[in-house]
Amino acid sequence: MTGTYPANIISANLAGLREKINLSAISSHRAPASVKLIAVSKRHPSEVIEAAIDAGQTCFGENRVQEAETKFKELRQKHPELELHLIGQLQTNKAETAVNLFNVIQTLDRPNLAEAIAKAIRKTGKTPKLYIEVNIGNEPQKSGIAPESLEEFLSQCLSSYGLAISGLMCIPPQSEAPTPHFQRLKLLADRFGLTNISMGMSDDFESAIDSGATEVRIGTAIFGERKTY
Ligand SMILES: *Cc1c(COP(=O)(O)O)cnc(C)c1O
Repeated sequence: MTGTYPANIISANLAGLREKINLSAISSHRAPASVKLIAVSKRHPSEVIEAAIDAGQTCFGENRVQEAETKFKELRQKHPELELHLIGQLQTNKAETAVNLFNVIQTLDRPNLAEAIAKAIRKTGKTPKLYIEVNIGNEPQKSGIAPESLEEFLSQCLSSYGLAISGLMCIPPQSEAPTPHFQRLKLLADRFGLTNISMGMSDDFESAIDSGATEVRIGTAIFGERKTY
């Protein structure tokens, strides 16, 4: 089947995924409740998000601020319990909208964005959780803080901008086995006492959970193929 799935399939996918997540957690000697499922709804319309909400899903991920605002403004009024994560690149001129909209910003990846987020937090009084995106495979074309620079960036966030960081996220290189990268992110999180570890997508979430992921970001396996922009 291609394209966005109908509601009954989304509901069945969510149930099946939760079962797989629980089994992965148990086989890694972890509590199933220690792994959160973030349903990545980017490029899918509000109706399919509603279908997931009806099936009990409360946590969603989006990669564009404007798109998320359009879709979730109404959904949030009907469903105030929704938790929204930003998992895509954030431009500094959208920092204020993002701080207002998202419960978690997972893609803090540079000093001028830290500055813009700090300013937006002072202005709005909102305090989203912040994760640093780590360029775990040191890929030149990819955003994220290099693992070697994480310690310095963490202390800069705190001392220069007063930002408390609560987690790390990564997207491993596409052409490599993901597990060593997941294990490396877990080591970094432990070293700096960060409790939220966002890693693993439709194709590799089981390995991510085995390596210590506390949240997995899954789109295609729930909703089907995305439209291209
Ligand atoms: C799109 C996206 C996902 C979900 O990917 P799927 O392969 O559809 O599960 C996860 N994380 C990030 C950062 C994404 O951009």
